[in-house]
Amino acid sequence: MTRVAFVLGLVAVAVAACLSQPAAAGDAARPLKRVTLQLNWKHQFQFAGYYAAIEKGYFRAEGLEVRVREVEHGEEPVDAVLAGRAEFGIGASELALRRGRGDPIVVLAVILQHSPLVLIARGEGVQSVHELVGKRLMLMPHETELYAYLRREGIAPGRFVELPHSFDAADLVSGRVDALSGYSTDEPFVLRRSKVAFSMFSPRASGIDFYGDSLFTTERTARSDPRGVAAFRRAALRGWRYALDHPGELADLILAKYSTRHAREHLLYEAAEVRRLARPDLVEIGHVNPGRWRHVADVYAELGMLPAGADLRGFIHDPTEAPDLGWLYRSLAASVVTALLVALYAWRTRRFNRKLRQEMGRRLAIESELRRANERLEGQLAENSVLQKRLEEQVIRDSLTGLYNRRYLDEMLERELPRAQRHGYPVSVALVDIDNFKRINDTWGHQAGDAFLSAVAARLADAVRAGDLVCRWGGEEFVLVLPNMALADAVQRAEGLREFIRDMRVRFGEFELKSTVSVGVASYPGGGLGPAELLKAADEALYRAKREGRDRVRRAADAPVRSSAARLELVRPREAE
Ligand code: GH3
Ligand code: MG
Ligand code: MG
Repeated sequence: MTRVAFVLGLVAVAVAACLSQPAAAGDAARPLKRVTLQLNWKHQFQFAGYYAAIEKGYFRAEGLEVRVREVEHGEEPVDAVLAGRAEFGIGASELALRRGRGDPIVVLAVILQHSPLVLIARGEGVQSVHELVGKRLMLMPHETELYAYLRREGIAPGRFVELPHSFDAADLVSGRVDALSGYSTDEPFVLRRSKVAFSMFSPRASGIDFYGDSLFTTERTARSDPRGVAAFRRAALRGWRYALDHPGELADLILAKYSTRHAREHLLYEAAEVRRLARPDLVEIGHVNPGRWRHVADVYAELGMLPAGADLRGFIHDPTEAPDLGWLYRSLAASVVTALLVALYAWRTRRFNRKLRQEMGRRLAIESELRRANERLEGQLAENSVLQKRLEEQVIRDSLTGLYNRRYLDEMLERELPRAQRHGYPVSVALVDIDNFKRINDTWGHQAGDAFLSAVAARLADAVRAGDLVCRWGGEEFVLVLPNMALADAVQRAEGLREFIRDMRVRFGEFELKSTVSVGVASYPGGGLGPAELLKAADEALYRAKREGRDRVRRAADAPVRSSAARLELVRPREAE
């Protein structure tokens, strides 16, 4: 679980890092991006929309901090923006000219749907521009739409006197010039205040309908920061909507923060004129009509300033055609990182599982090996205990007959007699000796003797009670130990055995073997106090049975037991018989 949590955490962090976007609107934590807007004139109502966007925080809400730069003397806004002194600029129809000539500029929005540029002639009731032939005119070289207008009206440049522009309406008032170029938003106010009669001529009269102020940037900025460009455009147009609806507030703002060059009244005049040219009643503020730009380019071609049909592709910015590749790349990076992490996790898990399986296999093998070893050991132990038992048995058993041997008999009597004394019961012993056994060996061979010995032993073992003991005393002699049996009963039992053995026939090949036994019986305590004395008493009784003709049972006399030396003396004559 810890590994899973760790990997999921990594994935989450990676994805979050890759997907983190520029600050959302109003995100105060992110530093604002500083950009500059290059104006094409000095501060006045003409730029009120941008001031509104700054003042109302529309730019700030888009993550932008906007600086507004007035035009410097002799500087073209397009050049300032292309040179990187500003990211955005305000220009009029000359934008199409510059673009047609190959400058990489892009129009973002058109603010003034019609150009404010007009020819202003001195005197009331000037009927047409044709009256300006041979007159003194002040025009700016870049005011191409006016040249085109005059040309269309048949007034070629040589047919009037051209004076450098003084930008001072007083020259018209004083009569130094007969006409000058001006903005319909500006000069008429000054002239009216000066109570000077004048007439205005707009190129629209001859079908030349240029755009007025438009917002533009460079192709490079539009491509590298489409989000920033869209944000700027969005905030600027929002500012414009506000400015057009609140001219008084904007006039006050301009006076307070930007310029007192124009009085409030002047600014309000300008506001009304700007509103008239922006046509918010007809189009959405910022609306761009490619056909209008084509028209502008065609007029330039007419003047010989642009080749006919100049290429304007890419000139008009289309936010929908500029997907946020940054976001796409971040998503791709997130996917790749996620895939790599998942692959890494899968690989580690597989490796871990494989190791686990190997380890488990090894442990199982060790376990079964241990189990087998254990089983072998247990088998060995069982075998050992059987062997031990067998060895112990061999020590106390006679190998031919399987009866207990003399060693065991001695141990048993050592234990049994004191117990009998303690509990006060008798113990009888019967010493059984096969009569003339030597003859069987001599006649039929040793193996026949073994067979007969075994048969007698089996009979004796069958005949005794549980708790009695039969053992081979040596050679063809056996001892029966009969605890808790008095002498008389023991004699009687010995008689039964003797008779049985006398009648017993033992098959040996095609022959039948038979013999008799003599038995000496003695009892404890009557026969003596210890095992040796008791056996000696039985032996003496046996000796008597042999002497009296064999095949009989004799009991020990009450007389004291003879010494072992006497027994040896007695045995020798019996063996001699
Ligand atoms: P008696 O009636 O006086 O007891 O005569 P006997 O022949 O039985 O006694 P003796 O002591 O003279 O002979 C015992 C013989 O038993 C001698 C020996 O060779 C034989 N014998 C002892 N142990 C074994 C045995 O394990 N197997 C065989 N086949 N013979 C044995
Ligand atoms: Mg004997
Ligand atoms: Mg014998």
